[in-house]
Amino acid sequence: MELEIYDTTLRDGSQQEGISLTVNDKLRVAGLLDDLGVAYIEGGWPGANLKDTEFFRRAAAELDLRHARLAAFGSTRRPGGRAATDDQLVALLDAGTEHVCIVGKSWDYHVSQALRVDLDEGVRMVGESVEFLTGKGRRVFFDAEHFFDGYKSDSEFALATLSAALDGGAERLVLCDTNGGTLPQDILRAIAAVQHRFPDAALGVHFHDDIGTAVAASLAAVDVGVSQVQGCINGYGERTGNANLSTLIPDLQLKMGRKAITGDLDLLSPISHHIAEIVNLTLNPHQPYVGASAFTHKAGLHTSALARRPDAYEHENPVRVGNRTRMVVSELAGKAAVISKAAEMGLEVDDDLARLVVDRVKEMEHEGYHFEAADGSFELLVRGMTGWENSFFNLESFRVVTDRRAGEEVASEATIKLTVDGELKVSIGEGVGPVHALDKAVRAALAGRYPHVADLRLTDYRVRVLDSQDGTSARVRVLIETSDLTSSWGTIGVHENVIEASWRALSDGIVVGLLKTGA
Ligand SMILES: [Zn+2]
Repeated sequence: MELEIYDTTLRDGSQQEGISLTVNDKLRVAGLLDDLGVAYIEGGWPGANLKDTEFFRRAAAELDLRHARLAAFGSTRRPGGRAATDDQLVALLDAGTEHVCIVGKSWDYHVSQALRVDLDEGVRMVGESVEFLTGKGRRVFFDAEHFFDGYKSDSEFALATLSAALDGGAERLVLCDTNGGTLPQDILRAIAAVQHRFPDAALGVHFHDDIGTAVAASLAAVDVGVSQVQGCINGYGERTGNANLSTLIPDLQLKMGRKAITGDLDLLSPISHHIAEIVNLTLNPHQPYVGASAFTHKAGLHTSALARRPDAYEHENPVRVGNRTRMVVSELAGKAAVISKAAEMGLEVDDDLARLVVDRVKEMEHEGYHFEAADGSFELLVRGMTGWENSFFNLESFRVVTDRRAGEEVASEATIKLTVDGELKVSIGEGVGPVHALDKAVRAALAGRYPHVADLRLTDYRVRVLDSQDGTSARVRVLIETSDLTSSWGTIGVHENVIEASWRALSDGIVVGLLKTGA
């Protein structure tokens, strides 16, 4: 049987604290998952929340899926009730998807303690609910909730729920480690028992990452014949998250040689970043395969060897997952590092210029600059030393005022004057703080000439005091992370005045963004 990826970013993933998706957001994420080519996209839990009901209604009209099929999620009927009149099962049908996934309890402890019914009723809830849905023409996947804890506690009951789901016509038995605490070796033993009892059943797995083994356990499960893997892009999910599909998919395809998605694998990094933008969380730069640091090397001893033979230092060619090799440059770096970093940015630097760049980097790092986290500013430094000049805009002046009146919220206003193509632009920005106001003012001034600035987003802003013995007159270092839809870059500013330091980092960030589009 073919391997299937079942994505639950829109349902389980959106349980992560800090994630709150609008229906529009969910439609955009679904479109991206379809581009990637997962087999199933779980859209949500209709009936349990209005937003999800609305999502399925709009998805039917607005989404034109080319690779993936949409699935609706729900739970087994209420204890003591009837499937046919269960509001929630009816809402699941109303979602209008061919595939539905229903979750039922397979841990005796939950049945007796949470549902407070006897185990026979627990089994009937599963069987009758599945049968009701298949009877209405739905293709049903059964999520056996807490299966591994259940198997440990009362294996016969856990297996009886699977048997009831199969009898009801379920097409996949999905074994869930809902609390995420089961070791891969124990998971494999339980899977072997399920395969022994139900040799013809198609199995799936759904793992949470509470002990850091969700991806490893999923790979091991596929290795022993499980055909469906559930997880979330970027490992989103409650607590420590679900099995990370941004890791699992390339592991399956590149390391195990299994076809996991029907789209191109090199879409993985841009799509992982794009979804991070939509859910409004900064993507962990150290995330395997897709993180900005996943193929980043700190320049040093191996720099020239790395430039010649990257496969000696990287487990995989980053291009295959849409990522790239990066070198970070610091005062420790030599000429070779500068040359290869410059080449990565498409700039040709000869030996003499490289030596000048190294000297300049050392000088500036002495003043408090730190280029390791600011590849954008480094690019502008090298460009500047090759004679390039920023012709996008020139700063004439800015003025920032912060107002605090009794009984009112503090607010900031920035006025900026820039020349753009020889023309003076004056604009005003209002923000919660001075940097926010300045950021809005500069974007407003540039928006007419460079519409692309609307896609640039300030994703991280960090300030650090450098020589703290000088108290409030100390120099500060501002690091800014800017991103567009597909990539991100760091820029830096150092000054005694925090607004000036911020302006330097901010304007570098915008210039790099404009360079990227070839504006
Ligand atoms: Zn889950």
